[in-house]
Amino acid sequence: MIISGLAKSPSGLIRQVLAPYSQTREPEARMAKMIKKAELPRKSCAQCGLPIVWRKKWARDWEAVRFCSDRCRSDAKRAGRA
Ligand SMILES: [Zn+2]
Repeated sequence: MIISGLAKSPSGLIRQVLAPYSQTREPEARMAKMIKKAELPRKSCAQCGLPIVWRKKWARDWEAVRFCSDRCRSDAKRAGRA
């Protein structure tokens, strides 16, 4: 848990927890209603370890996505890991 040492008073804790949401009243928040970025699936690239965030173009074969880029895919292939 990230909460440890975050706040000593309950009200302070609640403010900390709610802060990200109350600050999201930007135009971007309208997008967030449709797709909550925080809830998108994500995984790590099997080659370089960078986080891969779900993209619409991967909707069909997200399970098969293992690398962040074609370069990583070919690197992994060369390394005999594909
Ligand atoms: Zn990668």
